[in-house]
Amino acid sequence: MTAFAIRHPVATVSRGIEDLVIKGLNSKSYLMKGACAVLSRVISLTVFPIFLLLELTFSRIPKALLAIGNSEKFHRKLDKAAKYFFAIFTSPLGLHSPEGVSGFFLKTPPSHEVRPFGVEAVYGQKVDQITYPKSILELQQLVRQAKEQKKQISIMGAGMSQGTQTVPHNSSQIVICLKHLNSISLAPDGQTAQVQAGATWEQLQIALNNQGKSSIVKQASDIFSIGGSIGINCHGWAHEYGALSSTVESLEIIDASGEFRRLSPADEQFRCMFGTLGYFGIVVSASLKVTDNVPLIQKATEIHIDDFHAHYQE
Ligand SMILES: Cc1cc2nc3c(=O)[nH]c(=O)nc-3n(C[C@H](O)[C@H](O)[C@H](O)COP(=O)(O)OP(=O)(O)OC[C@H]3O[C@@H](n4cnc5c(N)ncnc54)[C@H](O)[C@@H]3O)c2cc1C
Repeated sequence: MTAFAIRHPVATVSRGIEDLVIKGLNSKSYLMKGACAVLSRVISLTVFPIFLLLELTFSRIPKALLAIGNSEKFHRKLDKAAKYFFAIFTSPLGLHSPEGVSGFFLKTPPSHEVRPFGVEAVYGQKVDQITYPKSILELQQLVRQAKEQKKQISIMGAGMSQGTQTVPHNSSQIVICLKHLNSISLAPDGQTAQVQAGATWEQLQIALNNQGKSSIVKQASDIFSIGGSIGINCHGWAHEYGALSSTVESLEIIDASGEFRRLSPADEQFRCMFGTLGYFGIVVSASLKVTDNVPLIQKATEIHIDDFHAHYQE
């Protein structure tokens, strides 16, 4: 934990702010609610921007400079540094919402606890081990091992679902976090992207934006994993396309026997993979349709509630 705090000071402060906000929300004492509200705001307005500046100066900028020569890595590091830079300027928003900016810097330290977002205190569960496979082969071995030992597998994407979706029914089950399976590649024709399940929308959007592209259907924010989003078949602002499944061309999965399978919409199991919380297998990667990333202009039209349906249809 100390090593994590030294390596990720901003993430550690962000977690502190988050914990204070949650403690305040869950407390019945008005004194405790007030103390948490004040302390979380003070930290987000003072300690948080100072740590952002320190990590930007001594870690993010040097890492970007060291990556000069490797264009892809350099742009990735530069994007990270830019995120810190913008957060310093937007940190005064912490006065209104203490975790509003710091929430984008949360990292889960390696631990033996499954902590679903926002409901950690209610559903969080200590487990014997959380495994982080770095290859498909490793993942297949874990599934086969679970089968042999007759254990349940609990799959974690970004772990943001606010319930027990990622929590095993007891501590000795096998918990697999896919965050290291996060590779992303754009097809040569620019029409689809092959994305591993542990990648987040943030990672995907940054990679696609570098090529002038964007994903089509996703949640309103970018913190979720592709696997977890398929697990619940998310929807978003691009409602005219329907749910995420409408943009998935094919899937790669590991089935309950540990077999690697490629699924296209013609396969019966393809549809079983959407919104079923991983019950039919583990999504390893997806081929997602992408679109050109064009600047949008937000417009609002005020209408009477009685005219809404006709207006919306139009
Ligand atoms: C603040 C907030 C805003 C939200 N906004 C929206 C929204 O705009 N639209 C919307 O549709 N939803 C929204 N949601 C819900 C969100 O989309 C789901 O909770 C989503 O599953 C989170 O993704 P995750 O990576 O954190 O998944 P996790 O919580 O890690 O996992 C979700 C489920 O998918 C399973 N799973 C994870 N990875 C895989 C995999 N590789 N293969 C198979 N199964 C897997 C898990 O076992 C679990 O059952 C929101 C949630 C929050 C907290």
